[in-house]
Amino acid sequence: MISNKLQDAINAQINAEFWSAYLYLSMSMHFEHEGHAGIANWFRIQFREEQAHAEIFMNYLNSRGGQVILAPIAEVPTKWETPLAAFANTLEHEEKVTSLINNLYALAVEEKDYATCSKLDWFITEQVEEEETARGLIDQLKLIGDNGLALYTFNQELATRTYVVPAPLATTK
Ligand code: MG
Repeated sequence: MISNKLQDAINAQINAEFWSAYLYLSMSMHFEHEGHAGIANWFRIQFREEQAHAEIFMNYLNSRGGQVILAPIAEVPTKWETPLAAFANTLEHEEKVTSLINNLYALAVEEKDYATCSKLDWFITEQVEEEETARGLIDQLKLIGDNGLALYTFNQELATRTYVVPAPLATTK
């Protein structure tokens, strides 16, 4: 059994993961409309990954005898001035998610719930990757500046991203 305090915190994290998914889906739709199909593809895969993160937490809460409570998903932005603005927003958002995961970990330690700590280890590593990836794409876009051909190539590269089921989902279900 999981404590009520931790159950509430995990439910809040499930909502945060769905909000992330919705944010990236919104970015995907924006860039689809702007004619950047590759960037749209990258964000659509990001959307699917965030849904998977929510699923991992939902499966975990169920496995611990907790109850998943799905709350409304708050509104997300719908427009970004440039690809750089969207990736800067992505990095800023992922840094926020990292702090949410860290807070969750601190609470699990406080509650002496070491199974939750163990589950969170994967997310801690995942957040390092999320931030590193966003930072790398921002660096590329800064180099690209207003070079249309370079942006075209960047867009083509992002079109090649494919969805990979995150390890915790691939092994549990
Ligand atoms: Mg996530």
